[in-house]
Formats: sequence, C-alpha cells, structure tokens
Amino acid sequence: MATATQDYGLWIDGEQVEAAETRELIEPATGEPLARTAVAGTEGVDRAVEAARAALEGAWLKTPPTERSRLLHALADAVVANRKELAELESRNVGKAISSVKAELNQAVENFRFYASAIASIAGRSTPMGGSLLFYSLKEPVGVAGQIVPWNYPLTMTTWKLAPALAAGCTIVLKPDSATPLTALRLAELAGEVGFPPGVINVVPGPGTTVGAHLVRHPGIDKVAFTGSTSTGAEIMRMAADGIKRVTLELGGKSPNLVFADADLSSAIPSSVWSIYYSAGQSCEARSRVLVERPIYDDFVAQFADKAKTLKVGDPLVAETQIGSLISQEHRGRVHGYVERGVEEGAEVVAGGEPREGPGAFYPPTVLAQVDNRMGVAQEEIFGPVVTVIPFEDEKDAIRIANDVRYGLMATVWTGDPARGHRVAARIKSGTVGINMPYTAFPGIPFGGYKQSGFGRELGLEALDLYLETKSVIVSTSPRPINPFGL
Ligand code: NAD
Repeated sequence: MATATQDYGLWIDGEQVEAAETRELIEPATGEPLARTAVAGTEGVDRAVEAARAALEGAWLKTPPTERSRLLHALADAVVANRKELAELESRNVGKAISSVKAELNQAVENFRFYASAIASIAGRSTPMGGSLLFYSLKEPVGVAGQIVPWNYPLTMTTWKLAPALAAGCTIVLKPDSATPLTALRLAELAGEVGFPPGVINVVPGPGTTVGAHLVRHPGIDKVAFTGSTSTGAEIMRMAADGIKRVTLELGGKSPNLVFADADLSSAIPSSVWSIYYSAGQSCEARSRVLVERPIYDDFVAQFADKAKTLKVGDPLVAETQIGSLISQEHRGRVHGYVERGVEEGAEVVAGGEPREGPGAFYPPTVLAQVDNRMGVAQEEIFGPVVTVIPFEDEKDAIRIANDVRYGLMATVWTGDPARGHRVAARIKSGTVGINMPYTAFPGIPFGGYKQSGFGRELGLEALDLYLETKSVIVSTSPRPINPFGL
C-alpha cells in the first residue's frame, strides 16, 4: 500500500489519499522509525465528511440491513485472514505485547459478528392509540458519525466504534491519534476490499486540537463518539453544544479493585496483578487502586509485589512478553513523575519505580504501598504500570474509598461471600463491576462510565441504540375527514 512519499495516506471515499503534511512514526519499543504517514488538515476532514454524507444519502442508504450484516461478517472474516499482519502492526505501533494484541483481535472479530446479528434487532414498535389513530416508530441512522479514538487501544477502540455505527446504517469519519493510525487505516482498507461502498468509512489521522476539533465542530457531523481523557471529553462537549450534536463520551478511570479478607487469594492476587499491568497499565479500566482489608494488607502487598516482579517486560513482538513498551519516552517521564510524587506524598515503593536503561520506553511493574486515598497518586490517572495499594477497615469503609474519586468506569470485588459481592456491586458507582472476575469488556455487554468517566455506552445493544434516531409516525385510519378548526 506504499506510495512514493507516504507509506500510509488518509483513507477517504474508498481510497488512499496523500496529505500535504506527513509524520514519521517512531516504534516505541526500539526508538527506531516505523513508517511515514499522512497527517490530515482541516481540508482532509472536509473531504471525508463530504464523502461520508454522499454515501449516507447514496449507496449506504440503498444497502439493505441484510447486506449490512453480510458486510460486517465479511469484515470479521477479513480481520481473521489478516490477523498476523494486524497484530504486528498494532504491536509495533503502540509498543504493546503481541500476546495482548492477539486477544484484542479475537474480541474485535466477535464484536463485528455481534453487530452483524444485532442488525436484526433494529425494529420500531406499533401501538393502536385508541380511536382511529395508529402509531408506529421507525429507527433511522443518526447520520454521519465523527469518531475520535485514543492511542492506547487503537484497533479495539476503532472496532468498538465502527461496528455499531455501521450496523445502524451511519457513515463514519474516524480520527485516530496521529501517533497510532496504522491499524485503523488498514481496517478501512480491508472494509473497502470486502465491499463496503466508498465513503462509508473514512479515516483521517491528525492532531486533536486542530483536526479533531474541526471534525467535532463540522456542520456535516451529526454525532460525535469520543474515547479519550476526561479533560478532552469536557472540551468536546463544549464544542458539540453549538450544533446540538449527539455526543457519547468514554473517558478516563481510576478504578478500584476491592480485596476482602475472605477472598480466595490464589485467584485475587494474580488477577489483581493482571488487572493493573495488562497493556502496561495504559488502560482506561486499569484497576489502579487496590483496596485491601487491613488484616491481610501486609501479606497481600508482599505477595502482589513478588508476582509483579516476575512479569516479563520487553520486546512486544516476543510471544512470552507480558508487558511491552509505554507509548513514548515522554509518557514514561510522566509516569515516573507520578511515582516520585507518590514517594513525596508518603507512599512506599515495594516493586519497580525506576525506568529501564536502553532504547525503548520500558517501565517496570511498580507497586506503591501505604497509600492514602487522598494522595494525588490515588486520585489521578497515571496511565502506566503503577498500582496504589490502600488499606480499608470494613465493607462500609471499602465502599466509601472505592467511590471517593471523580471517575466511575470499572470496579472488581474479591470476596468469598456471594451476598457481599452483590451488595458491594450495587453500591459502587461505576459502569461495570466484576465479582471474583478480572475481565472488563465482552462483545455484546455494555461498557461505559458513571461520573466523570463519561456517558453513553460502548458495546451491546445500548451502543447500537446511540447511533439510531426514533421517528414516531401517527396515522389516522378514520374514513371521516379531520377538521380541527371546524372549517
Ligand atoms: P486524549 O483525550 O488526549 O486524546 C484522545 C483523542 O482525542 C486523540 O485522538 C486526540 O487526538 C483527540 N483530541 C485531543 N484533543 C482534542 C480536541 N480538542 N478536540 C478533538 N479531539 C481531540 O486522550 P489520550 O491521552 O490519547 O488517551 C488516553 C485517555 O483515554 C485516558 O484518559 C484513558 O482513560 C482514556 N480511554 C478511555 C476509554 C474508555 O472506554 N472509557 C478507553 C480507552 C482510553
């Protein structure tokens, strides 16, 4: 797919398009150049929106739901057929362990298949209203969706966003982070190969404050679906207000992982380790606050730290690697700054805590113990492999600490008492709660935030509904004339 000057162009109206500006991507794990990609400007966004609008009112409008379903299955098949290439692209672009990327790819495939089937559930309803009036409703696509995704899960977030929008009959202009556009661009190309009409999916990598903002404000965009930080989410809401655009926001998190003394620690400890260090901690749903009941606190911290030290950090392309590189040296500096701040605030480093020498942006799994929930490191999203471990006294105290944060994305509860598991799940203010189970996102199951973690949902029928408008049609079946003014 290479062109003379750009390895990757923009993807607009079913073809690769060169841009005036290019960017050299650096592979986070090696510090070496990886590819040269086009960077969209505002005129690229304008062209993409125009193509998406034309497809919405043209070829895509004429594509029946059964054909949309077939195309989504075909895209799932194409992801399977090209999984090796996609996995390597994502792993090298993000620095993420390829073992993690493979799991994410499997989920992407299932997600496309879920929405291929969910198309059958798009149906209005009909009710006789009494007298001679009959009501029925139509479910119609919202229109052109502007979708913005972050750098930490470029492929997963792209598939989460594309699938429900396509199922609903929307067309799309997607803006990946300009540092991590490769799998989104390849996915759009695969969609073209399997038969999605030109203009249905357009991809315009570019900087957020110019290209992203232009997309959000664009009068040709009907809905904005954003995944990223809470501060950018607030800015998106402000920008979308003028056009009364539909908005969904998937934002940051500082999620708690509650471990009660009656928990099965042989499951709780390794799962808690996975829950923070998966994807090198660069996950919105990372359980970065581990709350542990006081009597088992010291033992838990010791065992947790021992396990954290055994994780394999290194070359993301090696199958056994569990933690790859952080996204950049700059981000690693920020993460390390948080660790230093934690120490100043009174936390104790019991594992990791120092950047690794050599090329690449590696950072070891780090454990901060003796943390108080009021410390900055317990309240702010560090977005790296750094866990804070906080003691609690009893169930009430655990719930209080769990909720004492501005975010509400995810929580996990570990307990041997099933009744307590349900009780705590009901009291925690977050979009998802796991009981004795560390995983967070499943195809078909809604995922999203309470509080400042956002609103709206990804995945599931809930996300599909957010790409649909409901139109009420009311019909008179009376043979008599209707003459309200008696004229
Ligand atoms: P970010 O907000 O800086 O950027 C996210 C995307 O928004 C990027 O594509 C960026 O270019 C774009 N952007 C930035 N400023 C913009 C603006 N003014 N207008 C329009 N677009 C703009 O976030 P990030 O640092 O790239 O991503 C990490 C954040 O994403 C973390 O806070 C993480 O928790 C969150 N996240 C949330 C979820 C979820 O499902 N809730 C999933 C993944 C990541």
